[in-house]
Amino acid sequence: MILNALDRDASITILGSTGSIGESTLAVARKIENLSVFALTAKSNVTTLLRQCLEFNPRYAVLVDTQGADTLAEGLRSAGCETKVLVGREALEQVASDSQVDMVMAAIVGAAGLAATLAAAKSGKRLLLANKEALVMTGDILMDAARQNGSTLLPIDSEHNAIFQCLPTVAEGIGASQVKFVEKIVLTASGGPFLDTPLDQFAAITPAQACAHPVWSMGSKISVDSATMMNKGLEFIEACFLFSLPAGQVEVIIHPQSIIHSMVHYSDGSVLAQMASPDMRVPIAHCIAWPQRITTEAPRLDLASAKTLEFREPDLVRFRCLSLGIEAARVRGTAPALLNAANEEAVSAFLAGRLRFDRIAEINADVMAQIPCEPAASLDIIIDADSRARLLANSLINNG
Ligand code: NAD
Ligand code: MG
Repeated sequence: MILNALDRDASITILGSTGSIGESTLAVARKIENLSVFALTAKSNVTTLLRQCLEFNPRYAVLVDTQGADTLAEGLRSAGCETKVLVGREALEQVASDSQVDMVMAAIVGAAGLAATLAAAKSGKRLLLANKEALVMTGDILMDAARQNGSTLLPIDSEHNAIFQCLPTVAEGIGASQVKFVEKIVLTASGGPFLDTPLDQFAAITPAQACAHPVWSMGSKISVDSATMMNKGLEFIEACFLFSLPAGQVEVIIHPQSIIHSMVHYSDGSVLAQMASPDMRVPIAHCIAWPQRITTEAPRLDLASAKTLEFREPDLVRFRCLSLGIEAARVRGTAPALLNAANEEAVSAFLAGRLRFDRIAEINADVMAQIPCEPAASLDIIIDADSRARLLANSLINNG
């Protein structure tokens, strides 16, 4: 436990606390004496949420699914824990925007996290953004909501966190003035488990194989996205919105060791890179403490034992999802939302055994080709594009 690690007492809501990022956030919070946990949320995992509440004693525990709420309340009561149970999706927005909360970790997976993430931005919280799908869908709408309401948006995604660390520090966090002398940014990608798998084996890839990432241990959706490299496609879009850069100033390079988390090329020829062991506690601690630093227990980087850092160009035929992401970042409008929604449906069908691995990219490409892209003029237009993409994706999935 580090006494007063933060420069002032602070409280945090962790949306999606039972997931991989949620657990890593609690591992960081556990060590900070003057960071209190205000609310923890889960979709349905009562066992984990109960265990977390008993340790961190938050004011609120939110369970989205009604089922299990009684078990949670009873578990808390019998242990003498005063955490109040709230049920349903609206409660996520409530605990993300409560006036007593200083920072919100947005770590729900997928579009399901959008409303609460937006609510945190609109209520001026420090927003620790892991839920990349929320930003991919809404782009400038989320960025503007943060800017206009004094919310400091800080990137948890390791690549974007690396870029943020390589840019000049400005008081408001991410801002256009940071990228004034930037020529380009380069996102590194591990390449996932199928970097060298013969293409004719892609059709037979199982969910278990796709979820076995060689470097990172993550939730199932982002693991599949890493295997198709849709994750890097989403991150490409995320980078354009976060750093106000056109697609032409963003590149992707394969770096299997995941030691360099990303790089910034400046106009004078300098390149700044951020390095660390691949451990999400590093970017999480960085965002919680920013602009200060705190100590973490992440393994220290040992370059002598790492020996080699390799780099290669991404293969856009093998990883069609990456090129779809780059294309959506160029087109903008509702294209990123269409792609994201199609992909969420395709990945969920793949995980459920209803879709072949190699069909994920096809579904995504077909949805993007068949639904016309519009200017993303309002949240309603984006939500409508999201619904239409899901409907079409499911009909393509079900009709083989
Ligand atoms: P996960 O599947 O491990 O956890 C997801 C969390 O969201 C869980 O707490 C779950 O209860 C909650 N959730 C799921 N569906 C929900 C719904 N419909 N309503 C409310 N809550 C719901 O996922 P993760 O790996 O922790 O990833 C979370 C987010 O962070 C994703 O957007 C992912 O892309 C991003 N991210 C993850 C990592 C990583 O290392 N895991 C790295 C970078 C970015
Ligand atoms: Mg990432």
